[in-house]
Amino acid sequence: MATGGCLCGAVRYEVRGPLRDVLICHCTECRRWSGHLFAATAAARADFHVVGERGLRWIARAESDTGARRGFCCECGTSLFWDSPDRDTVSIAAGSLDPPTGLRVMGHVYVGQAGDYYDAPLG
Ligand SMILES: [Zn+2]
Ligand SMILES: [Zn+2]
Repeated sequence: MATGGCLCGAVRYEVRGPLRDVLICHCTECRRWSGHLFAATAAARADFHVVGERGLRWIARAESDTGARRGFCCECGTSLFWDSPDRDTVSIAAGSLDPPTGLRVMGHVYVGQAGDYYDAPLG
């Protein structure tokens, strides 16, 4: 079982199933939300359990073309989750996992929207 949480510990979660390898998203929303890019693993919704949710807040953007909401810790600001109603998985910030994760980076997406201050890898 994988576990993880935010910087301050006010949000903790467990994944009772396999994790996808890590996708790095350079899209405009992830860039602004995370401050640079969002590296995410993913788990089946049924395997994902928030076990400490004191600090958990969800925000949704009407402009999001996926209708996704994003979860973060309102006590320390850690960016944690991306959840789209169209998917049966929840994306989880890879950096919030407790090591060892056993995961690898599998690719980069939305590199065309990457910040103009660095050279994003090809998708
Ligand atoms: Zn926190
Ligand atoms: Zn993104």
